[in-house]
Amino acid sequence: MATNEYEVDGLKMMEELTINAHQVQEQVLGEILKRNAETEYLKGFLNGQSGKQLFKNNVPVVTYEDIKPYVDRIANGEPSDILLAEPVIEFHRSSGTSGGQPKLIPATVELSKKMAVFHTLSASVLNKHFGDLNRAGKSMELMFVKPEIETPSGLKARSVTTSLFKDNGFRNILPMLYTSPIETILCLDINQSMYCQLLVGLIQRDEVVRIGSIFASTLLRAINFIEDHWKELCSNIKTGYLSDRITDSGCKNALSLIMKPDPELADSIENICGCRSWEGIIRKLWPKAKYIGAVTTGVMRQYTTALDFYSGGLPLVSSFYGCSEAICGINLEPLDKPADVSYTILPNMAYFEFLPVKKHRVSMTQEVQFNGVSEQESIEMNSNNEDIEPVDLVNVKLGQFYELVVTTFTGLYRYRVRDILMVTGFHNNTPQFRFVERENVILSVDADKTSEADLLKAVTEAKTLLEPLGFILTAYTSYGDMSSTPGHYVLFWELKVKEDNDNKELDPKMMAECCSRMEESLNYTYKIYRQQNAIAPLEIRVVKQGTFDALMDYYVSQGASMNQYKAPSCIKSKEALKILDSRVIGKFFSLKTPL
Ligand code: AMP
Repeated sequence: MATNEYEVDGLKMMEELTINAHQVQEQVLGEILKRNAETEYLKGFLNGQSGKQLFKNNVPVVTYEDIKPYVDRIANGEPSDILLAEPVIEFHRSSGTSGGQPKLIPATVELSKKMAVFHTLSASVLNKHFGDLNRAGKSMELMFVKPEIETPSGLKARSVTTSLFKDNGFRNILPMLYTSPIETILCLDINQSMYCQLLVGLIQRDEVVRIGSIFASTLLRAINFIEDHWKELCSNIKTGYLSDRITDSGCKNALSLIMKPDPELADSIENICGCRSWEGIIRKLWPKAKYIGAVTTGVMRQYTTALDFYSGGLPLVSSFYGCSEAICGINLEPLDKPADVSYTILPNMAYFEFLPVKKHRVSMTQEVQFNGVSEQESIEMNSNNEDIEPVDLVNVKLGQFYELVVTTFTGLYRYRVRDILMVTGFHNNTPQFRFVERENVILSVDADKTSEADLLKAVTEAKTLLEPLGFILTAYTSYGDMSSTPGHYVLFWELKVKEDNDNKELDPKMMAECCSRMEESLNYTYKIYRQQNAIAPLEIRVVKQGTFDALMDYYVSQGASMNQYKAPSCIKSKEALKILDSRVIGKFFSLKTPL
């Protein structure tokens, strides 16, 4: 039931948009073309005209590399209108951690307007399910910024989240809605920022109605952080004095306004954190929280087992799908489990097209079920998509896989986002998609190709062997090891013991079984190559706790934003590999040839 006018408006808008998806998309494309027909980029293809059919016939589907020369020219001082009519006010740096390097995406005033509309829609959906939480209390949302870079033309290049957190509108609402003071968010030292945000979140624990971060990896990192620092946090709460480790003046000032000695609160937190098992710790620490908000689909799925363990039954709500390029979709069923989440595309945010992804017709396929749709899932990665025509939003087919292509108000025309999505249903006339995987992340040591989704499936099956033994897989990544012939797959696994019991040892036989289970679950080509000894047995390297935090630190030091960080599913960087290899505590190999 709708609870207020704001919510009713949002839900009504959502219905109108999804009923009129086709018309809205036509309007969006018409508007983008009308505004930008005279840009150097579009003129090259459309000769100053703005016809939609001409656009479809003449404007090529491109990747970031194709528009990069234009972006670089604007960054170096040429006027924005070589690419887009509206002035570029800054660039947004994509995270670049799941695949390639950070990209610079032009941002305009129009983008902020779209963002505001999205917040209305998103809030109305969440309010419908959880009531108006803004009235009930505050969110403990972990938010971080990255240093800004200035382009030679003087434009800022920063992550989209840094831009959002520095926005005046956001700063104004922050104290009412969130536990973190702005100074703790703007602190560039991630550890100090994390410490202070958790400290204020604990001090205000009775007001907290929602816990969140943009992506699930950040939240899990926060729990690990509390595990390492709870005694110090409690001591600060008890005495009212902030630890000397916090040297950032903004944080010190902000905390001095909030902290006062509170031995009773410190004792209750100490009692909770001192328990042998941390099962349900989030709910115990924040008893009024109604849900955990963080993206838990795609590569974030790997964190859901650990988050379920810590959450104490709080729903994990993955509410949006988007990227630095555009806001794309919204989850209309926030209570769906991460594995079942679909996003409804928002037809007013950009013009969306979909490149059908060719299926790889091999005898070995896997059955998947979504909303009653049974589909043979097997994707040929990097198939020659250039020859295939993209289809419009309203023409996608149930059960089909597509790569997302966007045309935005910010100078991206038929731009491949490189995400693979599968159609799971429709809301009114608008398709809903499951996020399948990043398109360009492939593990391979020979002619085999293992995609992000293949890997997730194999790991999910293998880890079920360990869970009854009291181990949780908290993070994983992979690497194609070619240092010996034949090459082999290496999986790095970080494990956590459910009960605090240092003596718990991994059973080598069980770990070898996990390796075999993974191999059995991998695709046909992999198995054939293994049977022919063209690929050596799969290896799991167990790493010590904190390794994936160190990996995150490394990528953040290389420019990734903590908020937008996505652990790579497959490691390509030598430095990252060194970080993992230096923390290995056990190596296990598959002892069977997969059938
Ligand atoms: P960025 O370029 O840093 O803005 O990251 C955007 C990318 O994050 C997208 O292209 C997706 O690959 C991933 N992403 C964003 N939202 C989701 C989601 N809800 N589920 C899975 N992956 C997502």
